[in-house]
Amino acid sequence: MRIGLFGGTFDPIHWGHLRSAEEVGGTFGLDRIFFIPAAIPPHKRGQTAAPARDRLQMVRLAVAGNPRFGVSTVEISRQGVSYSIDTIREFAAKKRRGDALFFIIGLDAFREIGSWKNFAELFPLCNFIVTSRPGSKERDPLRGTGVAVKKLFCYDFKQKNYRHRSGTRIYFIELTDIAISASEVRELVRKRKSIRYLVPSSVEKYIKTRGLYRGPRGER
Ligand code: ATP
Repeated sequence: MRIGLFGGTFDPIHWGHLRSAEEVGGTFGLDRIFFIPAAIPPHKRGQTAAPARDRLQMVRLAVAGNPRFGVSTVEISRQGVSYSIDTIREFAAKKRRGDALFFIIGLDAFREIGSWKNFAELFPLCNFIVTSRPGSKERDPLRGTGVAVKKLFCYDFKQKNYRHRSGTRIYFIELTDIAISASEVRELVRKRKSIRYLVPSSVEKYIKTRGLYRGPRGER
């Protein structure tokens, strides 16, 4: 099995996330993609607007009906700050012979990987699929990551990707630009404006029923 791990705050999940997973899944022949909502995202200084259980429920609603997509509660169940190393170790421990893990991440987030907890230990455990971000022309996933990360990889000119000495790879994929962000969705809700066609209708309904993102800073 080729297993995709798609972590994020998903505050809330939107069509940009879903389309991204769809394109990555098709291009890399992934059998399953797990959306993994963070309990407390380290890079956002612990700030989320909606509580973890609401973000999780919205992800569940959004992926329902797609057999390739699944939801993992590892980070929310673990509680505390969600470090990718802990999550990837959990998946790596459960994987069967012949399984391969692919961590899906936006180029902007990947650029910060050198500051992640135990980052060098991530690379032997899984491959990385780095996705383009709307409006950005950057195509080299390692640019801007720093020497500590770059020195761990060599470029494979034949396959046009980066290879780690353990055999795992960093791939890059150019996605259809869908310039939606969760912050924009929250801002629209706060201003009592429509979020139709930015998020699945089930998520739109959930936000309304639960009264999410209506507070002064986009909180509940
Ligand atoms: P915020 O606006 O609150 O920062 P966000 O919309 O970027 O949130 P996250 O949950 O932080 O959403 O993102 C999870 C992952 O999805 C990240 O790897 C991010 O790069 C990627 N991502 C987010 N929005 C898009 C989009 N419109 N197209 C492609 N990838 C996206």
